[in-house]
Amino acid sequence: MRVGLHVSIASGLDAAVDYAARLGCTAIQIFSGNAKTYRVASFEASAFARFQERRLAAGIDPAAFHTSYLINLATDDAKIRAGSLRLLKNDLQVAAAGGVAYVNTHLGSYGNRPRAEGFAQVVTALEEALSATPPGVTLVMENSAGAGQLCGGTLEELGELVRAVGHPQLGVCLDTAHSWGAGYALNDKDGVDRFVEAAAQAVSLERVCMFHFNDTQIPLGGHRDRHYHIGEGNIGFAGFRALAAHPELRDKVAILETPGDEADDARNMQTVRMIFEGALA
Ligand SMILES: [Zn+2]
Ligand SMILES: [Zn+2]
Repeated sequence: MRVGLHVSIASGLDAAVDYAARLGCTAIQIFSGNAKTYRVASFEASAFARFQERRLAAGIDPAAFHTSYLINLATDDAKIRAGSLRLLKNDLQVAAAGGVAYVNTHLGSYGNRPRAEGFAQVVTALEEALSATPPGVTLVMENSAGAGQLCGGTLEELGELVRAVGHPQLGVCLDTAHSWGAGYALNDKDGVDRFVEAAAQAVSLERVCMFHFNDTQIPLGGHRDRHYHIGEGNIGFAGFRALAAHPELRDKVAILETPGDEADDARNMQTVRMIFEGALA
């Protein structure tokens, strides 16, 4: 597995690459712009060309965008839906221009509407986004912790979306903290084996291109989204070691979205490296 961090772009794209390189990342995830607004990204295309050059020189590949947290493709609010699609399409375009392989997005919440109606709309939105996506970029749907009416809380629902859209550039990201929150016990080898088998059945592992490696302190099936330091939560060393050692996941990418400052990031990356070394021993 190639491993990296979600890195802040507050100090620019060059600083983001330097940060990832300093901490030993072989992959990277960033926001393409401000994650808390519907305004589209402000970086110039040339900045992303430079980003690509710089990160490849540092051995950091692939790169992923995480879309804005505001994106909601399942909502019945037409304005939010339109704004969400605009952001998603923009990220897909910028990714294609900047050599960014993955655009990871949350799907949003059905709110009070019937699930079937919201599901059909998510399918339409994904189709529309993908129809305008140049080759080389994969739109990656991130699983949710399944709270309330959140879309994508089960492997089955993600698999249904993959099949309903039927587009080769649609993939899935499995966030370990969200999976745990949704009730998948990833804290030992048996649990991880069952989870990977269930993902293979429901989604197909070919479509699972990315993992978010986050530990969490919430109880199993707690349906909350709280990230914690690797090995220091309920998933623990055994869970991450089983994921790192799983033969079917060797060519996947793992991105940490753990909390804290650079010292925390350095510790989490070191922990993951140790886990991988142990898993290979
Ligand atoms: Zn995540
Ligand atoms: Zn999360």
